Amino acid sequence: QCLLAVILQITLFNTKTMAQEKTIDQKVDSLLQLMTLEEKVGQMNQYNGFWDVTGPVPEGGNAAVKYEHLKKGWVGSMLNVVGAQEVRKLQKLVVEESRLGIPLIFGFDVIHGYKTIAPIPLAEAASWDLKAIENSARIAADEASAVGINWTFAPMVDISRDARWGRVMEGAGEDTYLGSQIAKARVVGFQGNDLSKPNTIAACVKHFAAYGFAEAGKDYNTVDIGTTTLFNTVLPPFKAAVDADVKTVMNGFNLLNGIPVTADKFLQRDILKSKWGFDGFVISDWGSIGELVPHGYAKDLSHAADLAANAGSDMDMESTAYVSHLVENVKNGNVDESLVDDAVRRILKVKFELGLFDDPYRYCSEERQKERLNHKDHHAGVLEMAKKSIVLLKNTGNLLPLQKNQKNIAVIGELASDNNSPLGSWRLGSDDHSGISVLEGLKKFTQNVSYAKGPQVFDSEVSFLNEVKVNETDTSGIDEAVALAKVSDVVIMVLGEHGFQSGEARSRTQLNLPGLQQELLKAVYEVNKNMVLVLMNGRPLTIEWEAENIPAILEAWQLGSQSGNAIAQVLFGEYNPSGKLPMTFPRSVGQIPLYYNHFSTGRPNSQPNVFWSHYSDEKNEPLFPFGYGLSYTTFDYTNLKVDTSDESNINVSVTVTNTGDLMGEEVIQLYIHDKVASVVRPVKELKGFKKISLAPKASQNVEFVLTDQELGFYDQNYNFMTEPGEFEVMVGTSSQEYLQKTFIKN
Ligand code: BGC
Repeated sequence: QCLLAVILQITLFNTKTMAQEKTIDQKVDSLLQLMTLEEKVGQMNQYNGFWDVTGPVPEGGNAAVKYEHLKKGWVGSMLNVVGAQEVRKLQKLVVEESRLGIPLIFGFDVIHGYKTIAPIPLAEAASWDLKAIENSARIAADEASAVGINWTFAPMVDISRDARWGRVMEGAGEDTYLGSQIAKARVVGFQGNDLSKPNTIAACVKHFAAYGFAEAGKDYNTVDIGTTTLFNTVLPPFKAAVDADVKTVMNGFNLLNGIPVTADKFLQRDILKSKWGFDGFVISDWGSIGELVPHGYAKDLSHAADLAANAGSDMDMESTAYVSHLVENVKNGNVDESLVDDAVRRILKVKFELGLFDDPYRYCSEERQKERLNHKDHHAGVLEMAKKSIVLLKNTGNLLPLQKNQKNIAVIGELASDNNSPLGSWRLGSDDHSGISVLEGLKKFTQNVSYAKGPQVFDSEVSFLNEVKVNETDTSGIDEAVALAKVSDVVIMVLGEHGFQSGEARSRTQLNLPGLQQELLKAVYEVNKNMVLVLMNGRPLTIEWEAENIPAILEAWQLGSQSGNAIAQVLFGEYNPSGKLPMTFPRSVGQIPLYYNHFSTGRPNSQPNVFWSHYSDEKNEPLFPFGYGLSYTTFDYTNLKVDTSDESNINVSVTVTNTGDLMGEEVIQLYIHDKVASVVRPVKELKGFKKISLAPKASQNVEFVLTDQELGFYDQNYNFMTEPGEFEVMVGTSSQEYLQKTFIKN
């Protein structure tokens, strides 16, 4: 009888009439009332894919346990299950066999594309082109949703000032303002304007919070930062994502000032959920609830479950803490059931918003899968994105662009023929070796190309799961490269890091070109100085010798599926580079952390004696500053005006002129400095930018509006405030080259 009643209620609950009448919150409440405590806790449990559904049902061991839990409704989400067929099979198991049939939500790391791979996120950030970045996330969502994924663990919005940390490739770089704009663009790109459409997916902003400040750039390491940095630098991109209606937030592995963020109530409940009004759910990072034990914060897994649930972590990724212990923790009073209800409400709400209750199989379409993956429009989209991501670092004597009829081009370096490394790290859905290499890209323009590989630097068996082995001794191949360079008119050297040298757990203490690549470069340069260096890397590198000697340098990161085509189009001038660095390039590792928006010391300038803030063996200045990047044309800035006559806003304008002979795009950057404040403000902070396109000799007046939002800051108690006083405004082409004016804010 009881079972009949439940069935009746569920049927009623699922009918269209009910669906039309009730709001999502009401539907969530009705469903919650039907759930047992075990089923509620089940929604808070996420398992990693464990079973190839084309094979037999698992018997025994961990897989069998997971399988049984799915049938009981003790699993709310799966990660790493992909393919319309696989997703349908697991969804069917849960929808048809569990008591309430609550659909699963399927998550996956769609970081920069699913099958068609876009540039790594750090490279995309170098475009400063928000529309292009949004479109790139849209493409990723379109493909991911076609293979049954309804939720991506992206974007990563961790601000980082430490290029030793391998995960800088996943973020938008060092700046909070740029990072916040990009966070928003990515969330909108993934989620679209209607989450119930089957080609949109829920986004997940991560890692909440401060993971990018891991000490010494070592992954998973301790973070100890003050409130000024936390509130003004780390949190704003998360807030921007919440304001853009991001559906989920992932916490992280790190301690923040002594508390593991996964168990940090202040961050998750007080700030995120209460102060910001975030109404989606928080997912732990992989096993991070279990890691409360080795951190020395929880005595065992049960205690860890208790701490994380109380602190507001709503879903447990793979540590089995909730599914094994949360029911007993509620029963013995350690966790209030209302907190479980709150977590489950949040999870169910997102499932309703995704339309999973209307049709749990809406993401399972083999036809869509076939049609959308590697769609030609997607390749066109990521090619545009890739071109916009390239940064021209140096171009002495206008060596670039190359003439289309350029004779005798030597292409040198192992990475030049690599079609795997340019896909970068974190591209779990892609086919290995599916990128276009530089060599392939160049050959579409000219046959006047000869290739020498140089020494083999990287182990050919590299993958996401293995450490990249670098050969430091094998010099074979250098002689051949030198011989080729001798008889060539121009040399294109393609050097850098392997795509899997950055990403999670890929910290480095040296940021030079790995292996014998610099030896190769120097040997070739000896015989032919007419050289373009194309860099491929997932983070800023220390390339002082290269920057001083090589006449032309193109920063090409890891640009994804269309990498070689994008690079060739830029080398031959079909696209005029317009990217600007989203992270400072230091001269040496010892300068790190080095970032443009630092504070002034009490001794910023050279003193008559040694007692000023400097190194005795290194300059203070970076090699290439934040916001830096050249074009094949030149831009002139004149006529900076600051108008304070408007009571609430400061209006700033500048005239930008294309003074060269080619059409080009420029990113106009606006920085401010609050000269005296009750919490000291950085020497400059980006507070606006615009990317414009200008024909040769054309001018444009570019306007910015500064409101209290841009002029204010958070104090030590997380109160946002603006203070009257004197400000400097700087508008220009990088964080180091600008026009400047002072104004008074009343
Ligand atoms: C990473 C997350 C990722 C998760 C799932 C973790 O190791 O830190 O960023 O989303 O794995 O793959």
